Amino acid sequence: MGTIATNIENLLRELPPEVEVVAVTKTRTAGEAMEAYKAGLRLFGENRVQELAAKKDLLPDDVIWHLIGHLQSNKVRQAVAIASMIESVDSLKLLTKIDEEAVRQDKQIDCLLQFHIASEETKQGFGIEEADSTDWKEVTASLRAVRICGVMGMATFTNDSEQVRREFRTLALIFRNLHDRHFSGMEFFREISMGMTGDWLLAVEEGSTMVRVGTLIFGERIIR
Ligand SMILES: *Cc1c(COP(=O)(O)O)cnc(C)c1O
Repeated sequence: MGTIATNIENLLRELPPEVEVVAVTKTRTAGEAMEAYKAGLRLFGENRVQELAAKKDLLPDDVIWHLIGHLQSNKVRQAVAIASMIESVDSLKLLTKIDEEAVRQDKQIDCLLQFHIASEETKQGFGIEEADSTDWKEVTASLRAVRICGVMGMATFTNDSEQVRREFRTLALIFRNLHDRHFSGMEFFREISMGMTGDWLLAVEEGSTMVRVGTLIFGERIIR
């Protein structure tokens, strides 16, 4: 592992220019996050609202913050206030709650629908079948302050790259179907957030528009 700046430089050299990088700063110090900022990154991701709030206060105002971890309903108010995008919307109930709160705060908020594409039980998200069984037109018609901007997913943590590729392909297909059936008139519905340190290359090959990488930029994490 090199320095944070060289890690970012190496990643950006290999990444197609249209794919965005979300620098995942969970468990990192504000100083480490600042190094990524100085290397040119502006999009940062945290998986806990409290940690996002703390880092936001310590970093420059032009950082764009994405919440990427499970959002509990009692944290929706704070999440809406501080995040530009909530990538981890995993139920209609949560989506409605975010919308109500955003209306209250008079703020537009971008969201991604997280789908459960992995074989592990623990990863949150809408079930794959919900992409088809939900009336998304009705859902979007009911939203006043939320823009659904695409989908997000996490592949199984495995060395089996064919399985990972299949899971990413499934997410890309879900995106395509949702786009064509329900969101075709909405130019902001364009994101497929998939790919982490271990699998970002596969994710990009399968159509990712946004990779979420922590370890690759900052080095090994002790926890989480
Ligand atoms: C931690 C985390 C990442 C980044 O993981 P790395 O393996 O460190 O790149 C991406 N997405 C989510 C949802 C995470 O919680």
